[in-house]
Amino acid sequence: MSRMKRILVTGGSGFLGSHLCARLLDRGHEVLCVDNFFSSSRDNVEDLRGNRRFELMRHDVTFPLYVEVDAIYNLACPASPIHYQHDSVQTIKTCVHGAINMLGLAKRLGVPIFQASTSEVYGDPEVHPQKESYWGHVNPIGVRSCYDEGKRCAEALFFAYHRQSQLPIKVGRIFNTYGPKMHPNDGRVVSNFIIQALRGEPITIYGDGSQTRSFCYVDDLIECMIRFMETPPDFTGPMNMGNPGEFTIRELAEKVIAFTGSRSPLIYQPLPADDPKQRRPDITLAKEKLCWEPKTSLDEGLKKTIVWFENILRQA
Ligand code: NAD
Ligand code: UDP
Repeated sequence: MSRMKRILVTGGSGFLGSHLCARLLDRGHEVLCVDNFFSSSRDNVEDLRGNRRFELMRHDVTFPLYVEVDAIYNLACPASPIHYQHDSVQTIKTCVHGAINMLGLAKRLGVPIFQASTSEVYGDPEVHPQKESYWGHVNPIGVRSCYDEGKRCAEALFFAYHRQSQLPIKVGRIFNTYGPKMHPNDGRVVSNFIIQALRGEPITIYGDGSQTRSFCYVDDLIECMIRFMETPPDFTGPMNMGNPGEFTIRELAEKVIAFTGSRSPLIYQPLPADDPKQRRPDITLAKEKLCWEPKTSLDEGLKKTIVWFENILRQA
């Protein structure tokens, strides 16, 4: 294990953030979790609050933050289309002002900073699978643009700080990730389908269900994040982080029905605007630089996630 560090995780009580905080504590670090609880609740980190090396701070990253840490993971930003479109101006501020504030902090302290970027920087991709060298196909004024362009601007900021101030940055482009602690009402496809199946409600497929996504189990993704942060300072990315297995949304629905034993019917609803038709990461770079690739199959990950949602619904 590397020496104990004090590590800031913004968005630390969210889905990915809460798993990251737990993993960093397991590795013996101190964790400062900063969140404004816009798209999460404290419940996600409730189990960590008894740990003396864990500290939770309510703070909005669109405002400056003055703390002393050895490394920063910048995850603060709503990630589901429902949440990030709910207040699109705030989403842009979180992406852009949040990045400026956290980069300013990293610059003052001279510490490495990871940015949770996204496959959405590729938009509705015309190149498949997506490599990091692809510049993307994004509608700059559509309903998803607050998030897509916000994250693209954040990447631009990270690389500007790197060039201008030699800041050690790590830009990770995360593809659809799922697992326990996803917000039950955030509208993402995996949580929606599992909850609908467990409740015996119709499974809502948007469009004809032929659009594809590549789903990464959360434990694999967190391992990738931590290995990325431990790379030499000159390795900046951008680097794709995800599982290259590609499935149609209809296939996903069928798997969820099979694994839950549900009798839910499939119903078809209109496809939201600018919904990407296909998405699959080329993870050659992560394999080469981190010796990393996902270990959890979609079937295995879905079964674990279903067990978690079963417990949540039982307690509700
Ligand atoms: P999430 O919504 O569960 O977590 C985001 C967290 O950020 C929440 O706890 C939220 O309250 C917090 N937050 C939002 N705005 C904030 C602000 N202004 N100040 C402080 N905290 C704020 O989403 P997630 O899935 O855990 O995503 C985490 C990060 O990873 C996000 O930056 C997201 O864009 C990125 N990402 C996630 C996925 C995925 O599939 N989960 C894919 C691509 C990128
Ligand atoms: N989707 C769906 N039914 C749902 C929720 C989502 O068919 O109840 C589709 C959505 O249109 C998209 C895919 O599933 O094509 C992934 O959606 P999600 O919101 O999880 O993530 P993103 O579109 O950002 O990849």
